[in-house]
Amino acid sequence: MPSCDVLVIGVGGMGSATCFELARRGARVVGLEQFPLAHARGSSHGRTRIIRTAYYEHPDYVPLLRRAWERWYELEQLTGKHLLTECPCLSVGPEGGQVVAGVRAAARAHRLAVENLSAGDVARLFPFRFPDDFAGALEHAAGFLAVEECVRAHALAAVEHGADLRTEEVVRSWVATNDGVEVVTDRDTYHSAKLVVTAGAWATRLLAGLGVPLTVMRQVQTWFRTDPTLVRRDRFPIFLADVPGGPFYGLPALDADGVKIARHYGQPELPDPDGVDWTATAADFEPVDAFLRTYSTLPHWTPAHAAVCQYTLTPDRHFVIDTHPEFPQVAVACGFSGHGFKFATVVGEILADLALTGRTAHPIGMFRAGRFGSGDLPA
Ligand SMILES: Cc1cc2nc3c(=O)[nH]c(=O)nc-3n(C[C@H](O)[C@H](O)[C@H](O)COP(=O)(O)OP(=O)(O)OC[C@H]3O[C@@H](n4cnc5c(N)ncnc54)[C@H](O)[C@@H]3O)c2cc1C
Repeated sequence: MPSCDVLVIGVGGMGSATCFELARRGARVVGLEQFPLAHARGSSHGRTRIIRTAYYEHPDYVPLLRRAWERWYELEQLTGKHLLTECPCLSVGPEGGQVVAGVRAAARAHRLAVENLSAGDVARLFPFRFPDDFAGALEHAAGFLAVEECVRAHALAAVEHGADLRTEEVVRSWVATNDGVEVVTDRDTYHSAKLVVTAGAWATRLLAGLGVPLTVMRQVQTWFRTDPTLVRRDRFPIFLADVPGGPFYGLPALDADGVKIARHYGQPELPDPDGVDWTATAADFEPVDAFLRTYSTLPHWTPAHAAVCQYTLTPDRHFVIDTHPEFPQVAVACGFSGHGFKFATVVGEILADLALTGRTAHPIGMFRAGRFGSGDLPA
C-alpha cells in the first residue's frame, strides 16, 4: 500500500498550490487528480481569472489577497512563467449597490486606493454607457491570472520539490483510521498520515458528511469580437457591472479570441457536477449579447466562442477552509463560490499549515465549516 505524509485529493486550482506548499516544506506528498492536469472539466480553465484587492464581497478578504498577490509574484520568479498581468478594474453599478458600495467599504477599511467615478466619468474614460444614477470605482491594484498556466506552474514546482502527482486516477472513497486516512482509488489504496480535500465541485460527494450545503452552478464563459484596437488592455479595463440580470464581468482582449465576458451566477443550483451540461449553445450567448447591446458603446460585437465551467457554492457565497470537524487529520477547502482562484496561492499556504500543524496564522475564521449548522443538506 503506497504511503505518504499528506495526500491531496484534487489537483486543480487549490490542490496544485497545496501540493507545492507541502512539498517545499519537506512533506512527502501524493496528489491525486481524476483528469489530466489543467483540464477543462472543473472550475480552473478558460484562460483568465480576475484578481482584485478592494474586495466588494467582504473587507476581511483583503489581508488574504495581499498575501495571495505576493505569492503569485513569487511563483512567477520560481518558475520563470508569466502568470499575472496587471490591469485596472472598473466596478460599476448603483451608488448604494453591493458592488460599488462593497468596493468602497473594503477600500476604506484597508486604506486602498480607489478612484470614485460618476456615470459620466465612466462614459468619458471607457466604452460604456450606464444609467446616470450609476457610479464607478476604479482600482489599479487588479489584473488577471493565466489560469491553466497557474495550475501547471504550481504542479511543476510541486514535482520539482518531490511531490508525486498522479493524474487520471479517480478517488472513490476515503476513511479516517487510527493513524491517518485510507484513500481508495480506481487503481490503488493509499495510506496517509494527513488528508487534504480540494475536490472543487466533487466536494459535494467527497465531503458529503461535512455538513456544508454545497451546490454546483453551470457557468458559461463567452468571448465576443469587435474592432480589436478598441478592446486592448491599454483602453479596455477589467470590469464588474452590477446591472439588472447581472452582475456581468469582462476582461480586455488578449488576442484574436476577443473579449471574455460572462454573467456571474444567475443559473439553477444543482446538487452535484453530474447535472452540468458541458455543451454551450446559442442561448448561452444571449444574456451577454443583451448586456453589450445595452451598455457598450462599441459597434459590431460578434460571438466568437464559449467554454462551460462550474461554480461550487455555499449558501453565503463565502469559502470553506477548515480542519474537518470530526477528523483533525483532514483539512478541507471547498465552496469557493465563483471567486476563489485569485486566492489559490494563499489557500495552498493555509492548507499546508492546517495539514502539518493543525493551525494557521492566516485569518480564516469566516471560512469555518461549522457555520451552516447541520441537517441543512440539499435533497
Ligand atoms: C467561469 C468561471 C469564472 C471564474 N472567474 C473567477 C475570477 O475571475 N477570479 C477568481 O478569483 N475566481 C474565479 N472563478 C472561481 C475559481 O476559478 C474557482 O473558485 C477555483 O478555480 C476553484 O478551484 P478548486 O481547486 O476548488 O476547483 P478545481 O480547480 O475544479 O479543482 C478540483 C479538482 O479536483 C479534482 N477531483 C475532484 N474529485 C476527484 C476525485 N474523486 N478523484 C480525483 N480528483 C478529483 C477535479 O478533477 C479537479 O481538477 C471562476 C470560476 C468559473 C467557473
